[in-house]
Amino acid sequence: MVVVGAGLAGLACALRVAGTGADVLVLEAGDGPGGRVRTDDAGGFRVDRGFQLVNPAYPALRRVLGEDGMADLALQPFGAGAAVAIGGRRHVLADPRRLPTAALSSVLAPLGSPVEKAAFVAWALGAATADPRAVRDGADEPLASALDRAGVRGRLRTGVVDPFLAGVLGDDEGRTSASFARLVVRSFVLGTPGVPPDGVQRLPGLMARRLAALPGTELRPRTSVRAVRRSAGGVRLRTDDGEVAARAVVVATDAWTAARLLPGLDVPAPRGLTTFWHEAPEQPAARSRARLLHLDGDRRGPVVNSAVMTAVAPGYAPTGRHLVASTVLGADEVAEPVVLRQLEHVWGQGTADWELVTTSSVPHALPALLPPLRARQDPDLGDGVYVAGDHRDTASQQGALTSGRRAAGAVLSALGLRPAA
Ligand SMILES: Cc1cc2nc3c(=O)[nH]c(=O)nc-3n(C[C@H](O)[C@H](O)[C@H](O)COP(=O)(O)OP(=O)(O)OC[C@H]3O[C@@H](n4cnc5c(N)ncnc54)[C@H](O)[C@@H]3O)c2cc1C
Repeated sequence: MVVVGAGLAGLACALRVAGTGADVLVLEAGDGPGGRVRTDDAGGFRVDRGFQLVNPAYPALRRVLGEDGMADLALQPFGAGAAVAIGGRRHVLADPRRLPTAALSSVLAPLGSPVEKAAFVAWALGAATADPRAVRDGADEPLASALDRAGVRGRLRTGVVDPFLAGVLGDDEGRTSASFARLVVRSFVLGTPGVPPDGVQRLPGLMARRLAALPGTELRPRTSVRAVRRSAGGVRLRTDDGEVAARAVVVATDAWTAARLLPGLDVPAPRGLTTFWHEAPEQPAARSRARLLHLDGDRRGPVVNSAVMTAVAPGYAPTGRHLVASTVLGADEVAEPVVLRQLEHVWGQGTADWELVTTSSVPHALPALLPPLRARQDPDLGDGVYVAGDHRDTASQQGALTSGRRAAGAVLSALGLRPAA
């Protein structure tokens, strides 16, 4: 069979099918595997194509990598909480189970009334403890109205919850599915996200290496599929290098390419994200807060979060140097001086001598997931054509991996083969 696209969905699909001994050819338009999970070298700095975290609580991650693979991924965890700049000070809001030393400061931080804080804790714990299947299949509404109804209001909402979720969902209008947001919050409560020591690309890199070790597999980079045509006895793909025929084809591209190749699929609105990567001459935060995500509780500019990558994973920079990733929503050009000015407030120090390493602008970072959530969409489009990707599940690495595995399961049962796991 043929998989179109070597992002997380395509790789997860290929691995599962190839695990049965079936031949798998993966056609990838880019110069290597990973899709949206890629890392570049920028003058010795490791720069992901947009600030991105990997959450070890994603069930699909462990399912795909196994314990050995999780060890190879070697996730370097962020701190379990956030530092929020309000006025001239930074306050730590932390998960007291994982960062007990910050529990008191979380309670005392001037970030909303005790009632608002209690409402948020109840909402987050409700998300963490609910059965994910019930969340996925239950009633849904826009996130903003769900938070209103739960009593999550005031400064905690505008200064912490909104910017934090905006950075994760790519949406600061609260239009995203509340059910999806609850699944995301669940994964943050259950696991501490991190990054591999040398960039997020290690994740697809490990998957591609495993695939290459299986007999009968090939990953062909720089091969863009231009058209998918159903024909008697199989499916034909037109590529830049000619035609490829297969009994089954899984289109595991981004949503927008999939809709071009397979007319009739939904075309979600794209959510863009832009990350500014700066070198700071000194570590910009005290040791105790350096591994925390930093937020601007006063919302003085477009930055939704900022993090010292090298405090979490020193391998992101040459020895002794400091790399900071700061993300804004959208992919429209934002002037760097505006970002640096806001970062002075976020980090509580001058940024005039920070050097821009590079900017990663991703206009189609995430498909908008509006209510009602339709996770677990059927991959089988008939006549040997299947579709996978984050747009068929949830807009996340977890959604991409699960969707790829689901498509593999559908292919295997159609071909009369049994999945290995
Ligand atoms: C900046 C940013 C931050 C993110 N942060 C997080 C995060 O913190 N946590 C999280 O869980 N998720 C995050 N995500 C989302 C996550 O990265 C994606 O949901 C996931 O990687 C999607 O994987 P995919 O395989 O569905 O699609 P993709 O990664 O888009 O893979 C599709 C592949 O298909 C290839 N392709 C496209 N067209 C063709 C063609 N015609 N022929 C052949 N190949 C083709 C592409 O080159 C690509 O390799 C983030 C994404 C971005 C961009």
